[in-house]
Amino acid sequence: QADIAMYQSKKSGRNTLRFFDLDTQKIINERAELEIELRKAVDKKQLHLHYQIQLNSVGTPLSAEALIRWVHPVRGLISPAHFIPLAEDTGLILPIGQWVLDTACAQLHSWQDERFTQDLTLAVNVSAKQFHQKNFVALVKETVQRHAINPKLLKLELTESMLVENIEDIIVTMNALREMGIQFSLDDFGTGYSSLQYLKRLPLNQLKIDQSFVRELSSSSSDRAIVRTIVAMAESLNLNVIAEGVETEEQHTLLQDIGCNYYQGYLFGKPMPIEQLDAILAR
Ligand code: C2E
Ligand code: MG
Ligand code: MG
Ligand code: MG
Repeated sequence: QADIAMYQSKKSGRNTLRFFDLDTQKIINERAELEIELRKAVDKKQLHLHYQIQLNSVGTPLSAEALIRWVHPVRGLISPAHFIPLAEDTGLILPIGQWVLDTACAQLHSWQDERFTQDLTLAVNVSAKQFHQKNFVALVKETVQRHAINPKLLKLELTESMLVENIEDIIVTMNALREMGIQFSLDDFGTGYSSLQYLKRLPLNQLKIDQSFVRELSSSSSDRAIVRTIVAMAESLNLNVIAEGVETEEQHTLLQDIGCNYYQGYLFGKPMPIEQLDAILAR
């Protein structure tokens, strides 16, 4: 951002000491302010997890994805799409990511009390920076043990875009977690550039078809072809496959015809507070 500001002030041709124009300055101030507030958000209990249900092909809920929400006292609900990038840039993703993992494991523990929730899997999104921490394996192990949960019920979602660098290190870390029983899903699949060479070496359980391929499934024959290819690829790699962002019956039917195993999207339920999800699961 500073580069853009410098560029803009040079372009304006004025030879002054003012590096930033006012708009840029405003964006930088807002970001700095948001960073200060995000730093305090964990302690102030402004972060919450919402849960979105995931169903199998006969409509049984088998898992959920934990999605973070920031309820700011003044600004209201702030989307993770807005503050996760800031958290990643500032390193705040480390304490926030740990808070998410802790809260998710506590939830898995409390699901153990009921017969109809005790087998549910919970998916947690993990950022690149978080995953690349030297002690990530130890952190996950400690958290899982402290909450006394079955590690098989925890599924970590990695994004395809984080696989571009240090693939050997990633495989070592994944294998260590996989040996503990942790599952892996590859999020936003189809939007990154993972080579098939890498894909077959990763100890994955699931590919998650990105929402952008599901959105126009009914009208776009090329999106249907892409989804068919992903499903076939998952099959031959022995992975299960979930579609995200399923909003209509038509999309659902097409995905069923193609042979997708799992579904997630507004058609089945939006991300919701735990009380609401538990009420649905109890029925
Ligand atoms: P994602 O992991 O790909 O999550 C899916 C996003 O799609 C979620 O947005 C979800 O609310 C939204 N979604 C689900 N079903 C539908 C649908 O049918 N239609 C539409 N239009 N949208 C749907 P959300 O909750 O805003 O999260 C955005 C992104 O923020 C996530 O994408 C994930 O990358 C990141 N994120 C969320 N929680 C965490 C977290 O705890 N840690 C990290 N590192 N990232 C997180
Ligand atoms: Mg996800
Ligand atoms: Mg996704
Ligand atoms: Mg996504």
